[in-house]
Amino acid sequence: MELSPLQELAQSLVNCERCKLAKLGRSQVVFGVGNPHASIMFVGEAPGFNEDQKGEPFVGAAGKLLNDLLASAGLSRDHIYIANVIKCRPPNNRDPEQDEVETCKPFLTQQIQLIRPKLVCTLGNWATQTLLERKVGITKVKAQAFYMKDFVIFPLLHPAAALHQGNLLETLKEDFKKLKEFLDRHSKPAELTSTAPTSVAPALNIESSQPTQMDLFG
Ligand code: URA
Repeated sequence: MELSPLQELAQSLVNCERCKLAKLGRSQVVFGVGNPHASIMFVGEAPGFNEDQKGEPFVGAAGKLLNDLLASAGLSRDHIYIANVIKCRPPNNRDPEQDEVETCKPFLTQQIQLIRPKLVCTLGNWATQTLLERKVGITKVKAQAFYMKDFVIFPLLHPAAALHQGNLLETLKEDFKKLKEFLDRHSKPAELTSTAPTSVAPALNIESSQPTQMDLFG
């Protein structure tokens, strides 16, 4: 059977050795999973131990919490696509390094171009700063919509942060409520996986509120 362009991209990265993570103990490249026509994409930081073993993003404790949070927003994994900025596990789950992000980012960009989500929820500082292309703290920008040229970015705290700091869990739950409100304002529920072309959205303006004419799933 012929591979889709997204499958071809995944295939092309199976033996990736473009950065040092290839030699630092990764078991496999964790490309991403989910609905290849999803209107909503979630982007995390990098695979951890469980993800490296299983070859799928967010399958450990943070992933379980993410599943609950998705359900609270009326979403499930079937609706979305999930990937990470970095496709290989950094040793001991250390933060990604700049050269690793620079090497791997083009593949996240290609994934986004092929999936064409209308909304990209970035989980944590790394994904948020990488896709917003600015060094801004997650607590300043979380749970707000940023209108990029081709899609909207909706930053959220990383679920792992709430696992490490219990007091962040309530905040994260509140932020998923805001995500649900945003989706409710912009969605036609029956079309969550619509592949209809995105309307042109205004360029990023951190101060501005969302334009009223935008229909995420229209
Ligand atoms: N944390 C991430 O950022 N990504 C995963 O896939 C798992 C944990």
